[in-house]
Amino acid sequence: MMKKCDVIIIGAGVVGNAIARELSRYEVSIAVLEKELDVAMGASSRNSGVLHSGIHYKPGTLRARLSVQGNAMMKDLCSDLKIKIEYIGKLTVAQDEDGIETLHSLKEQGEANNVPGLEILDQEQMQQIQPGVGGIKALYSPSTGIICPYGLSIALAENAAANGVEFYLGHGVTNISKNSREFVVNTAQGEEFEAPVLINSAGLFSDRVCEMLGIDEYRIYPCRGEYLVLDKRLKGTLSTLVYPAPRKGGAGLGIHLTNTVDGNILIGPSSEYVDEPDDFASTSEIMTQLKKEGHELLPELSTTDFIRSFSGLRAKQNPPEVGGYKDFIIESRDDFPGFINLVGIESPGLTSAPAIGLMAKEMVGRFVDLKDKDRFVSERPGSVGFFHELPEEKKADLVAKNPDYGEVICRCEQITKKEILDAIQNPLRNSTINGIKYRSRAMMGRCQGGFCLPRIVEILKQEFGYKPEDYLLQSKGSPLFSGRVR
Ligand SMILES: Cc1cc2nc3c(=O)[nH]c(=O)nc-3n(C[C@H](O)[C@H](O)[C@H](O)COP(=O)(O)OP(=O)(O)OC[C@H]3O[C@@H](n4cnc5c(N)ncnc54)[C@H](O)[C@@H]3O)c2cc1C
Repeated sequence: MMKKCDVIIIGAGVVGNAIARELSRYEVSIAVLEKELDVAMGASSRNSGVLHSGIHYKPGTLRARLSVQGNAMMKDLCSDLKIKIEYIGKLTVAQDEDGIETLHSLKEQGEANNVPGLEILDQEQMQQIQPGVGGIKALYSPSTGIICPYGLSIALAENAAANGVEFYLGHGVTNISKNSREFVVNTAQGEEFEAPVLINSAGLFSDRVCEMLGIDEYRIYPCRGEYLVLDKRLKGTLSTLVYPAPRKGGAGLGIHLTNTVDGNILIGPSSEYVDEPDDFASTSEIMTQLKKEGHELLPELSTTDFIRSFSGLRAKQNPPEVGGYKDFIIESRDDFPGFINLVGIESPGLTSAPAIGLMAKEMVGRFVDLKDKDRFVSERPGSVGFFHELPEEKKADLVAKNPDYGEVICRCEQITKKEILDAIQNPLRNSTINGIKYRSRAMMGRCQGGFCLPRIVEILKQEFGYKPEDYLLQSKGSPLFSGRVR
């Protein structure tokens, strides 16, 4: 197959999808090439889901500007995409005099970055926001928020697709060349795509994409962050986010507790450089450490509250011996006109994604004519949240219209058959078990699919005729069943 278009985007993480959605406002043809079978299988589904306020970044950097701008754009974006968002604020807590000094410099830095509403609080004021919080002073940032990171990535992609963007999932880019006018991009499937504009948003693999064009000045050093997910029993324990004042030269923001919009709490992330950009292991050493620190931060935690572990990889540009952070690289390359290159989009890439979308759009506009589309649809259909979160009258109305809303398949998360059917028939045509999980939240509760997975398998078999041997958990070569045992 050979396909010509105006723009090719490599990588369907939150950044690639935000760019695709932004460009879908215009009369341009766009192909998004993603090596995995679903969007957001890299860092974009494996993070804390925090909308950072922008206090941590040096004034004048892209990280500072784009995080503050992205944070401010999220409210309207989430309302259009029907995504839950909560601006729950954050206390950055000092334990000693050095920590207090750090809080004052963070406040100054945040103000230089135009972060709204920053305040240094004493112990009494801290207790009013989060009873029981330790520490002697805190910096409060009210614009810090939380969001479901994979929910946002999927919603951006679905909305982009509804506006004409074509997503090619399972299409890993293996080779790029440039003729006089266009980039020629080949995939592992032997397909060829051509476009005058090529965008590299391949996250942890962005250095490898650069190498395909002979650009060898970048290198990504993956730095793993492991998490533990806590049962919803503890929902409501935290009313805000509580972080330790950062240490100099650290690779992350320190282990902390983070609320999710769906009612779990995360403990993590750890910070450890690894060799491979897809080494998503959870290790027993780190899990033991996270459990210990979790107990210190939340004494009422019981061992049965830990329901799952996962890890994500930060796309660091500095090697472990240097540590710390470098600014995002977002460049329109003079040596390859039309090549828009994004490298090292580590934290706060989730927060910054909508603003990165705007910045990339400006760069694309130098190479193709961006004429407004008459029929851009900014909203996704449906309502915010899950069926069980809707008001009773709305639920009754939906059940009367469609009885599949009346059948609960996932007991832990209260997910109905209709929501699972919608997840299976998703607009991006992903057909993996994890695709159903990320879209519906079925299998994300206490039993981790022990009860509902067999029922979902039955639905796939009976209503869609899928053969169980063909089901994949997530990626190529991850079959869920190997054969019948009885
Ligand atoms: C532990 C951790 C915690 C974090 N916490 C936060 C947070 O709380 N708030 C925040 O704002 N940010 C946070 N971040 C950062 C945020 O997750 C990232 O900045 C963001 O997800 C980057 O998105 P991306 O689209 O650039 O990369 P990715 O999500 O990695 O997407 C890149 C995509 O490119 C695809 N790809 C790669 N190579 C190819 C190829 N050759 N062909 C086709 N496709 C390819 C990959 O499969 C992948 O889907 C965190 C990151 C980590 C790791």
